[in-house]
Amino acid sequence: GPILRIEGLRKTFRTNNGGTLEALAETSFNVSENDFVCIVGPSGCGKSTLLRMIAGLETISAGRIGYRGEPVSRPQKEIGMVFQEYSLLPWRTVLDNVALGPEFGGAPREEREAKAKEYLRLVGMEDFSGAFPHELSGGMRQRVAIVRALANDPDVLLMDEPFGALDAHTRILLQKELLRVWENFRKTILFVTHGVDEAIYLADRILVMSARPGRILEIFNVGMERP
Ligand code: ADP
Ligand code: ADP
Repeated sequence: GPILRIEGLRKTFRTNNGGTLEALAETSFNVSENDFVCIVGPSGCGKSTLLRMIAGLETISAGRIGYRGEPVSRPQKEIGMVFQEYSLLPWRTVLDNVALGPEFGGAPREEREAKAKEYLRLVGMEDFSGAFPHELSGGMRQRVAIVRALANDPDVLLMDEPFGALDAHTRILLQKELLRVWENFRKTILFVTHGVDEAIYLADRILVMSARPGRILEIFNVGMERP
């Protein structure tokens, strides 16, 4: 069966003036294991809200989210998330950001650090192990954020416009690196973007959402050949 099953999901926020705001209209879709799914749609249509609900970071107004048949209602180790910015802890070095993830929990320090360096090498960041996030460029920070999420060994990686703040050149480099890393680890990825080019380049499947309140208009199978 699908790794994620989204059934009749909806989100309504309460606003400051006592009203309500419908952020996500009824939404249903399934995600198969190892799929790379991109979600595109206009700004404000509820893409982040959808990911945050799947991550267990936001309450559900109606409907269900199933992960391997179990309901999701709070953050769990199997579902990781990378944000556009601020995924890294600013007071930790690059190495500690990766090495102190929950996956490494009880392992001895040398073992955790060796493993973290291996991950950092995958994205060419091993020489920046001792740096702090603010000392890195945006592209470097996102490279670290991606391997940090992967180092926690999630089954599903949720990515909310992770390259949205990068310049075009850096974004293309990171897209290539993400595909290379993804082919290595074979995670299931849900990737939110408002770049249609980005979605076509990355995705096996593209979900297109309407303006707020977002609902799924189309699901395209890109039919990408993977090695
Ligand atoms: P997208 O990611 O597609 O740009 P979002 O999911 O961030 O859209 O937001 C969808 C709508 O919900 C927007 O109108 C946004 O302002 C609103 N929204 C998001 N979070 C909250 C919140 N915590 N309280 C009230 N409204 C919110
Ligand atoms: P994006 O469009 O990239 O999702 P936003 O600027 O819409 O980013 O949202 C950033 C953060 O602010 C999110 O955590 C979202 O939940 C929150 N937020 C967005 N709109 C509102 C709102 N109207 N009221 C309260 N929180 C909001």
